Amino acid sequence: MTSLTGYRGAVMTPRAGTRELDYHDDTVLTVAPGGTIVGLYKPGDAPPELRLIHDLRGSLIVPGFVDTHLHYPQTRVTGSASGPLLEWLERTVFPEEARFSNATYAADVAREFTMACARHGTTTVGAYSSSSATATTTLFRCLEDSGLRAVVGLVLMDQNCPDALRVPADRALSEADELAATWHGRDAGRLSFAVTPRFAITCSKTMLAGAAALSERRSLLVMTHVAENPKEENETLEVHPWATDYLDVYERVGLVHERTILAHAIHFDGAQWDRVGARRAKIAHCPDSNFFLGSGMMRLAEPRSRGVVVGLGTDVAAGRSFDIRRTLSHAYDASLMTAGGATAEELFELATLGGARVLGKDDVVGSLEAGKEADFVVLQRPAHAEGKEGALRIATFGSEAGPVTRTYVRGKLVWSRAAD
Ligand SMILES: [Zn+2]
Repeated sequence: MTSLTGYRGAVMTPRAGTRELDYHDDTVLTVAPGGTIVGLYKPGDAPPELRLIHDLRGSLIVPGFVDTHLHYPQTRVTGSASGPLLEWLERTVFPEEARFSNATYAADVAREFTMACARHGTTTVGAYSSSSATATTTLFRCLEDSGLRAVVGLVLMDQNCPDALRVPADRALSEADELAATWHGRDAGRLSFAVTPRFAITCSKTMLAGAAALSERRSLLVMTHVAENPKEENETLEVHPWATDYLDVYERVGLVHERTILAHAIHFDGAQWDRVGARRAKIAHCPDSNFFLGSGMMRLAEPRSRGVVVGLGTDVAAGRSFDIRRTLSHAYDASLMTAGGATAEELFELATLGGARVLGKDDVVGSLEAGKEADFVVLQRPAHAEGKEGALRIATFGSEAGPVTRTYVRGKLVWSRAAD
């Protein structure tokens, strides 16, 4: 008889296909040996195969957080206040990313990166690497060992960047193809590869078109940045004068489709949002980064009113923390200031199931439901945070009052505060 494992405590989770947020004060999250969720049962109704129950009463169990946008090689420059965007890239980011040609450095930071994600309860990441294929392999190996779920992209850059980071289009695309062949779908889909042109300024039209072709040929996600900063937008059109606007650069080469994740999208007008909606592209909303670089505020109501799928991204290191709940707090503030009116429930969904939808993994993770894989985190819960309202407060804005104590991916413990 198969023995199941249970985790007994309060559980809060979005429910796929609805806008509902389910809350159970005392339930047993029941997981099969392979890491699939069997169901949520009242303590007296658990199946007889349930042999081991971890008693987490007094804690709160929520789906693992999904960080749809962050940069592994920027881990050590988190908090460097040298923005705005283009100046920050020149002064801080490009010199740091050049260090990733050193294998030891890349391996050390890969470990720091994966630990920082797990420690903050992030179970799935959409991570940009550097333009080094070797460093990208190092990150994949580290993620494979760590147990985390990840989408990783080799950053494509063949112009307007330091020589140390520039890789000609034919070589970069060939390396991307090799990385996809090696890593995409690894460990039953836990690891994926995404085609990742950094942004339009640092990519020739040849590179962008080749990236689109690779995404099409292998059915890969595309990750890139768009409309983050007005000066960036002006430079983009100087570099690509054949395009009518920033989004058009990507559209014309075939890079905007239902597997495309656009980060930022701050300076879109209504017509551009209509185009994003028509192409069913996804949005990585990174408000902490947007505040830190003074880039502006994305109007969350624009994508949501068009049914565009949105997730949250810390955007480390323009974002100042690996804590997706901190990003969620900034998303709330930005929503208030742009008359978006997002609620804590909606933002919690963006940080979990919404992010899974962005990364194309919502059939597997993002909510705690039977048949999905058991990616979840355990949050400390103060006694005063009672009921659904208290749980929501802790799970959304309560990083300090309700820190992560354990992080699980596919039913496997990948981080525990007790062992840290
Ligand atoms: Zn970014």
